[in-house]
Amino acid sequence: MPSPSDRVESVCVYCGSSNDADPAFLSSAYAIGAEIAKAGLTFVYGGGGVGLMGASARGAHDAGGRVLGIIPDFLQGREQPFDDVETIVVTSMHERKMMMFDRSDAFVVLPGGIGTLEEVVELLSWQRLGLHACPVVFYNPRGFWDPLFELLHHTIREKLSPPEFANSWRSVDTVEALIPAVLAMGADLAGARTNPDVADLT
Ligand code: AMP
Repeated sequence: MPSPSDRVESVCVYCGSSNDADPAFLSSAYAIGAEIAKAGLTFVYGGGGVGLMGASARGAHDAGGRVLGIIPDFLQGREQPFDDVETIVVTSMHERKMMMFDRSDAFVVLPGGIGTLEEVVELLSWQRLGLHACPVVFYNPRGFWDPLFELLHHTIREKLSPPEFANSWRSVDTVEALIPAVLAMGADLAGARTNPDVADLT
């Protein structure tokens, strides 16, 4: 599990593996990878060379950043890891997710499909259980994630999640806003840890 470090040094990127996604999403993914590298942060991801995963990793690598991919052996054919980035091959999806989680102290979520959804839902549920207190920031171009946010808020309105659950994540609309939001949320969470009177992280 990531320890609650007061400095964000590595960022895990969850995102789609589809090459057919909106080209604007693919180019934003590349730019976000570059932003992570330029901020001096290690880029951790699912290890594939396809879709937004591949684009974002390529962006980080091209910008001179440290990139760490983690891929299950059975997906290497389908998700085509890059030869020129550090890649750890694991045996299962669970091991992949656990290692991505262990190696990261902040998480960003780009547009994606069911795999991305599964990863971020697990991450938010682990936060609810107190298993981590790391920044989670969505990149939400043209409201891509709004249906998920509506569902999460629906669970609050129905009193199936507490109101504070809405503080578990943040969302930005632009590439440029993403890393500042990650660092700001990291600082707020660190402040809340050192000041027990600060309970509300909005
Ligand atoms: P998708 O958003 O469906 O394109 O998937 C994005 C990434 O999530 C891909 O690399 C998938 O291999 C990965 N993925 C899908 N399901 C899981 C899972 N259950 N555990 C870990 N990774 C997954």
